[in-house]
Amino acid sequence: MKILLFGGSGQVGWELQRALSLLGGVTVARVDGGQTLAADFSRPETLAAVVAQVRPDVIVNAAAHTAVDRCESEPELARAINASAPAVLAKAAKEAGAWLVHYSTDYVFDGSGHVPWREGDATGPLSVYGATKLEGEQAIRASGCRHFIVRTSWVHSARGGNFARTMLRLAAEREALAVIDDQFGAPTSAELLADATAHMLRRIGQAPELAGTYHVAAAGVCTWHEYACYVIDFARARSHSVRVSPDAIAAVPTSHYPTPARRPANSRLDTSKWRAAFDLSLPDWQAGVARTLTEMLEPQ
Ligand code: NDP
Repeated sequence: MKILLFGGSGQVGWELQRALSLLGGVTVARVDGGQTLAADFSRPETLAAVVAQVRPDVIVNAAAHTAVDRCESEPELARAINASAPAVLAKAAKEAGAWLVHYSTDYVFDGSGHVPWREGDATGPLSVYGATKLEGEQAIRASGCRHFIVRTSWVHSARGGNFARTMLRLAAEREALAVIDDQFGAPTSAELLADATAHMLRRIGQAPELAGTYHVAAAGVCTWHEYACYVIDFARARSHSVRVSPDAIAAVPTSHYPTPARRPANSRLDTSKWRAAFDLSLPDWQAGVARTLTEMLEPQ
């Protein structure tokens, strides 16, 4: 299987480089090109040539404009990277008979209610990021290419910026913290997403009818406040520098932290479709966070 990977330097992309290498040759296109293949998603029109050059069996797109608040002030760039570029890749995949794997987000939903979102539920993004990610999904479906769209939530890894890393830093610097406790989701490791993707791609030869949209996230649910407490307790138990005391981590509503982009309160994703289709299970979010923290705190 010849694989062309975009976004290989990101949290998910980095893990994909590892996980997909078992399936065949992986060519990584980088934004700056360097010594390798250049692929700038802010210029979507250039991407078809990259696909034509590599002639992959599978295109995997882990590139995105993920700075949710910045997307509000950079809507054109967000649209180019999150919507137009995936549309070009989908068209190229369709023409080449290749598969396209693309990642999307719980932010395509409006965050209402308390029930985990299913793949077919009505979307209603609250932000430019969510809206442009949804546009990307729609373009892929409309292209008619064989695809997997993998929606996930609250991604973390030892590499890159994420909530867990921010909490470790703040806990070492401050005596008190205030963390949001009215948004619900599941922290999901980039490692888990990459391994899930490899398992999915293993099946495309025998079961192409599995193509479609799936929710993939770690099992269980928590708030950002519970996630923060888990991270800080973990660090304290391993004698990592922690200044904040356990009773000085306040639980506050979203209104405490006004941000340019609105976040969904309910980011729970129902993963039963994916688990049934691929006959796989998903570990609890704590298992993935513990692995990520171990890597962050105990670099070899
Ligand atoms: P990262 O922000 O860690 O990585 C983004 C990747 O996109 C990087 O490789 C980056 O390259 C690349 N990229 C950004 N701009 C461009 C550009 N103009 N041209 C080419 N490449 C570009 O993202 P994650 O790994 O966290 O996210 C992977 C996927 O998962 C995305 O589709 C995201 O929407 C989705 N997702 C992420 C969540 C999260 O919490 N992070 C939650 C839900 C879904 P470079 O490093 O060179 O800038």
